[in-house]
Amino acid sequence: MLPIRDERLLPLHEKVIDGRRLSWDDGILLYETDDLNGVGHMANLVRERKHGGRTYWVRNQHLNYTNVCNKLCRFCAFYAKKDGPTAYTLSMPEVEERIRAHLDIPITEIHIVGGIHPRLPYSYYLDLLQTVRGVRPDAHIKAFTMIELQQIQLVADKSMDEVLADLRDAGLGSLPGGGVEVLSDRLHTELFDRKLDGDEWLETARTAHNAGFRSNVTMLYGHVERPEERVEHMVRIRELQDETGGFLTFIPLSFHPENTDLRHCPPPTGQDDLRNIAVGRLMLDNVDHIKSFWIMNTAPITQVALWYGADDTDGTIQEYEVTRDAETDTRQALTRAQLVEMISDAGREPVERDTLYNVIAA
Ligand code: SF4
Repeated sequence: MLPIRDERLLPLHEKVIDGRRLSWDDGILLYETDDLNGVGHMANLVRERKHGGRTYWVRNQHLNYTNVCNKLCRFCAFYAKKDGPTAYTLSMPEVEERIRAHLDIPITEIHIVGGIHPRLPYSYYLDLLQTVRGVRPDAHIKAFTMIELQQIQLVADKSMDEVLADLRDAGLGSLPGGGVEVLSDRLHTELFDRKLDGDEWLETARTAHNAGFRSNVTMLYGHVERPEERVEHMVRIRELQDETGGFLTFIPLSFHPENTDLRHCPPPTGQDDLRNIAVGRLMLDNVDHIKSFWIMNTAPITQVALWYGADDTDGTIQEYEVTRDAETDTRQALTRAQLVEMISDAGREPVERDTLYNVIAA
């Protein structure tokens, strides 16, 4: 018997079986229906058609070079004001020390993002990449959200193409694709009006893709966004992907309200996490990978998500600061053995990849 209870999903199921694209209205229905298992079943069909049981993970280290930021996004618990008590900006010796601290682990990716520090000169970003590359010459450097790229261009006073060429020469390999939040004018005005809007984010991504960089793309959910705004986000990403083919992975990010202006919002539930992953898998038919970012979703939800459309878990993640609890100093990381066990225990096949999804070990 077909595990779809809501009959309204049956025409969508036929489209999925035939490999046809789902419409905007289909996306709305995927959020409206209470038949989450039916949605997950369809997402799993797509996931298994693309990847079988393979589940990708990467040995990576995160580096957050500064938490100083002048954008004051209302959902953010990471940023600090320039002279605030928790503000920090890593010097190059400190960057070197952070990278050296994990030289005993065969890390293949260094993931670098930070706040928008208005006083950092262009040379800082180039030095940052060169310093990391100097210590870890074999690791792929994935760095800078589109909003950081915009700031770097501002202080460089060059065209974006020239900036991207300089960053590539300094060691940049690809872009993490965060900072987009939700492509919605309403949410931009309400939550993050100091940083680039949806059109500017897409244009920056287009420029980077056309310059030969691959990127990921995120979606922050579980705050005040509406289902139709999530669908709009996915449709606009899908349109740009038709044009550039530059997106590697879609990463729904679960909102953590603690210590933010939106602390009154109830946090997303496990059902929200699974639904956003499944709808992402179904709507973004032209994006190869869907990630359940275990550090935001938790490992148990990620295990279930591997049957709801996700084929990627991110990685070992040393040094993640963005959702670290400043009071308890709780840091999160998984060893290679723990990650592999998490995936295997979920009944999936762990595959170690590099940033660009070249298989390192199956
Ligand atoms: S989300 Fe990014 S840009 Fe916004 S305040 Fe936080 S660090 Fe700054």
